[in-house]
Amino acid sequence: MYPAAFEYHSPTSVRDALGLLGRLGDDAKLLAGGHSLIPMMKLRLAQPKHVIDLRKVPGLTGIKEDGGTIVIGGMTTHWQMESSSLLKSKCPILAETAAMIGDPAVRNLGTIGGSLAHADPAADQPATVLALGVEFVCEGPKGRRTVKVDDWFKGLMSTAVGEDEILVEMRVPAWPAGSGGAYLKFPHPASRFAVVGVAAMVTLDKEGKCTKASVGITGAGTKAIRAKGVEAGLVGKKLDAATIEAAAQKAAEGIDVQADLQGSVEYKSHLCRVFAKRAITEAVKRAGGK
Ligand SMILES: Cc1cc2nc3c(=O)[nH]c(=O)nc-3n(C[C@H](O)[C@H](O)[C@H](O)COP(=O)(O)OP(=O)(O)OC[C@H]3O[C@@H](n4cnc5c(N)ncnc54)[C@H](O)[C@@H]3O)c2cc1C
Repeated sequence: MYPAAFEYHSPTSVRDALGLLGRLGDDAKLLAGGHSLIPMMKLRLAQPKHVIDLRKVPGLTGIKEDGGTIVIGGMTTHWQMESSSLLKSKCPILAETAAMIGDPAVRNLGTIGGSLAHADPAADQPATVLALGVEFVCEGPKGRRTVKVDDWFKGLMSTAVGEDEILVEMRVPAWPAGSGGAYLKFPHPASRFAVVGVAAMVTLDKEGKCTKASVGITGAGTKAIRAKGVEAGLVGKKLDAATIEAAAQKAAEGIDVQADLQGSVEYKSHLCRVFAKRAITEAVKRAGGK
């Protein structure tokens, strides 16, 4: 199917892109990698009269370190994250999550900003950015503002980015020594989207006791969410198999689990528990625990 007719714009600065967004308002949509927007336009689920392509806007791509923080431009592709030596050494969970997205064609064009602004309920990075505790920087007509990841996902495909704003970068905080993380998912066999995906970050002290735990779950509900019951079951404890198993039992709590073509509420709740256990077990191993 073909999209409805639209006018194409290709600004060459953030200022020009924001100017177009401000002038064209609701009739305009930003285009990043196009791997979510274009299919929606072809299905006529989105019919913007104007498409503002961000690909010629300089300064929105790249991964760098700023003090201990890792800064990732909104137009950075999944492939750039998957292959980044900085991420592999300082924040491997982000590179690993990127590597699990779709297929090479999707990863070569799809962007972190597009994925997190679109907020597909089955997308992978939402779980991982929740577990990492990132911040987003949005730029709009009044300048830049920062949004914590816990305030980002509002509902089904709805986020804190304003209609007159661009998600320009994501800031990833440094985790202390003794930390480890893992993202694991049950992938849809065709698209590779997460039927359920769980990201876990843990920090262990010298005695192997958990001082910090953060768990994000995607795929099960209408939006990615922190599994706070699981986190509470980990912090302050030595993370042996029985403790992890008991904490993981709470993985579906607080999620409005949605039945769909991929599975029933019971099945997806079960996947939450199974993948929470697996992701936490792997995170503990990587943090230096047993
Ligand atoms: C076959 C297929 C398989 C896929 N499999 C997976 C998978 O396994 N896991 C997964 O997580 N994803 C998967 N995806 C989605 C993919 O990751 C997309 O890259 C992602 O959803 C959207 O990123 P994009 O850069 O293509 O954004 P676009 O499609 O260009 O834009 C998506 C939306 O975000 C808005 N937007 C884009 N960039 C910005 C910005 N910087 N600031 C504000 N708003 C912005 C756009 O206006 C639009 O509304 C798949 C897609 C396809 C087609």
